[in-house]
Amino acid sequence: MSEVILRGGTILTMDAAFSIATGDVASVDGILVQVGGDYTPQTNDYSIINAEGCLVTPGLVQSHVHMCQTLARGRADNMELLDWLHKVVWPYEGALTREDLAASANLACLELLQSGTTAILDMGTVHHSDALFEAAQIAGLRATIGKAMMDEEDEAIPSGLREGTKESLDESQRLCKAWHGRSNDRLRYGYAPRFVLSCTDELMQESVRLARQSGARLHTHTSENRSEIAEVKRRKGMDNLSFLHKLGFTGDDVCLAHCVWLNDTERKILADTGTHVLHCPSSNMKLASGYAKIPELLDAGVKVSIGADGAPCNNTLDAFVEMRLAALLHKPRVGANAMPASQVLKLATLGGAAALGLEDTIGSLEVGKRADVIAVDVSGAHCIPMSNPYSTMVYSASSSDVTHVVVDGKVLIRDKEILTLDKTKTLRDAQSQADRLFARL
Ligand SMILES: [Zn+2]
Repeated sequence: MSEVILRGGTILTMDAAFSIATGDVASVDGILVQVGGDYTPQTNDYSIINAEGCLVTPGLVQSHVHMCQTLARGRADNMELLDWLHKVVWPYEGALTREDLAASANLACLELLQSGTTAILDMGTVHHSDALFEAAQIAGLRATIGKAMMDEEDEAIPSGLREGTKESLDESQRLCKAWHGRSNDRLRYGYAPRFVLSCTDELMQESVRLARQSGARLHTHTSENRSEIAEVKRRKGMDNLSFLHKLGFTGDDVCLAHCVWLNDTERKILADTGTHVLHCPSSNMKLASGYAKIPELLDAGVKVSIGADGAPCNNTLDAFVEMRLAALLHKPRVGANAMPASQVLKLATLGGAAALGLEDTIGSLEVGKRADVIAVDVSGAHCIPMSNPYSTMVYSASSSDVTHVVVDGKVLIRDKEILTLDKTKTLRDAQSQADRLFARL
């Protein structure tokens, strides 16, 4: 038995009653056994982590990330989506070697864990996807990952990313068999056709069939940008999300990033089918895409979670930034009451867990769930005085306040030091691989 105790914090449980407790959060072999009060270790194999002056919360969950893009941070500013893809991101992804991808994923894992993100839904690139799983496996991150699938004949797609329909489906199935459920179910697979414009109808439909056969998630980009939805309408004769619905690509196992440009029928489809919307406010603003009508979607009963998207459209993978923006972005349009801090933190915890299909496993601190827990030091000048801890967490605290990170009962960050990665080497490798890759391009 291995016991981990985060001692003496203010605990935002994020349970159904939004209970706040004080004291210890204790886990045994990765399972939460006590939330609040004083815990007495049952064995000699325990570690006690001082969380005094900290908010202790469920690990943050980001439901839309591209670990493969981290080396392109800062390389694609001031562009809209289709130019951003065609001129920078696709050529970059097409040029990635397995070594580059490993450096990119290690950097992403480091950034995510340091900033309190303990679980992600990730879309990779077309090739070398094993490197993403290996990085998450070693770093200790909880990750549902899928290779990007893109089989449409499109001259904008560089040769390094072209693949046939069968080739794409076969590789996805191989990865799903190899990784889905590995590392105590910490690693899972998600079929990830990139978006309607880069995929054949057959690829989308077969992905739905295969994902459901193996209990994997389905993940794609949807209705992000006006030029994108106009092109979908031209090719398919339908609005984007309506078209996905026709292909069967909706449901409570389906995760759709962005959903900025929807009609009323499509908003109803999302609510009726339980499809998850992955809200990426930084990315939507930076690429000048617009904003998803999140308060309205939540009012209509749509399931929402948040994500940073990729480093070249953000340019960080920082969930605190996304929480803050998700809280602020909608207020000028909808009113100051829109998106209160407690609701935003729920999107970043339980909402993300639900998108991953893991709401019974993670996303709140409740006895019996897996121990994905973070401690955020709120004793700094920017957090004092604290009256409403949700407000402190969402509006005042930042990623640099994350002090301890536990995933699946394993301490990954203690006193801001990462224990599973060589930080210096990770940063050095990322810079040198990026320099070499962009010199080649
Ligand atoms: Zn994306």
